[in-house]
Amino acid sequence: MKTRVLPAGDAAICEAASVIRSGQLVAFPTETVYGLGANGLDSEAVSRIFEAKGRPGDNPLILHISRADQLRPLIAGEPSELARRMMDAFWPGPLTMIFPKSACVPPEVTAGLDTVAIRLPLHPVARKLIAAAGVPIAAPSANRSGRPSPTAAAHVLEDMDGRIPMILDGGACAVGLESTVVDMTGTAPRILRPGGVTAEQVERVCGSGEVDPAVMRPLAEGERPRSPGMKYRHYAPSGDLTIYEGGEGDVIAAISAAYDRALAEGRRPLIFALDRHLAAYGARRVESLGADEAAMAHRIFAVLRDADALGADVLFSEAVEARGLGLAVMNRLGRAAAFHIVEV
Ligand code: AMP
Ligand code: MG
Repeated sequence: MKTRVLPAGDAAICEAASVIRSGQLVAFPTETVYGLGANGLDSEAVSRIFEAKGRPGDNPLILHISRADQLRPLIAGEPSELARRMMDAFWPGPLTMIFPKSACVPPEVTAGLDTVAIRLPLHPVARKLIAAAGVPIAAPSANRSGRPSPTAAAHVLEDMDGRIPMILDGGACAVGLESTVVDMTGTAPRILRPGGVTAEQVERVCGSGEVDPAVMRPLAEGERPRSPGMKYRHYAPSGDLTIYEGGEGDVIAAISAAYDRALAEGRRPLIFALDRHLAAYGARRVESLGADEAAMAHRIFAVLRDADALGADVLFSEAVEARGLGLAVMNRLGRAAAFHIVEV
């Protein structure tokens, strides 16, 4: 199959919408990362997503809508008072909410669960595409399963060339991290994946914003996660990644020593560090994580992809403070490192 990359103008969006309606896949930009979209009401189209990504069939997808009034037919019953407040505060935007599902959502979308994840994105290309397709669009991140999420059309092409018919190129993604996934089926919201909307923001709107403990640790043997995505290795570069946590000076010293040891062993090490620490590593090979949390969110997946492009086979990263957007950055780094975190 030949993969076409089209600049996301109105004519291309229109064409992409007909590709979606015909049951095929289109990668498209959102404000979080690029999505790999299919008609969310068509089981066969949805199963093509799992095929193209190599995604495990038990990891459910998010349904994307273009207007809040498209929510009601997809869920069982009315959204709760809390869910309405969340919608008012964060939609359109990087928030995905989990509701009991209605009968019209195919089981392939929800991986057989009786709940469904729904998001109303902000990106104009995503909204126009969904509106033009006239159906909710099921879309995970447009990477091959296990790889870092794509934040530019070129990343999608790297992973999906020859596997899908079309990529809409809308430039770089503004947020750079996936949406925050919040389970709204209980009495209080529960954050299953930190993302563009922070736990602090959820707490301000709902009075509580509890983060599921599995967000920052590996699952125990046999533990059943509340979100199936938690059990898979994610975002991983090819090189082994270790995260160092502790006082600034201690972390820099420990990473420098580990880097020098790796180099002496003939390996190709690379360091991920905060902007303000770059000079402290001297002549060692360092990639900047960014100057602040927003910049780190924006860069993290590109940095993980670059590590592969640079041929690094062992990676050392500074920890990021797990507050605000920093929690989402640390969650992605932690998963990329299979939670191999060293305290110094
Ligand atoms: P991605 O599509 O790569 O952005 O990942 C979507 C995330 O949402 C995965 O971690 C899924 O496990 C999670 N998810 C989707 N639907 C549900 C659901 N019904 N219940 C819990 N988690 C869900
Ligand atoms: Mg993903």
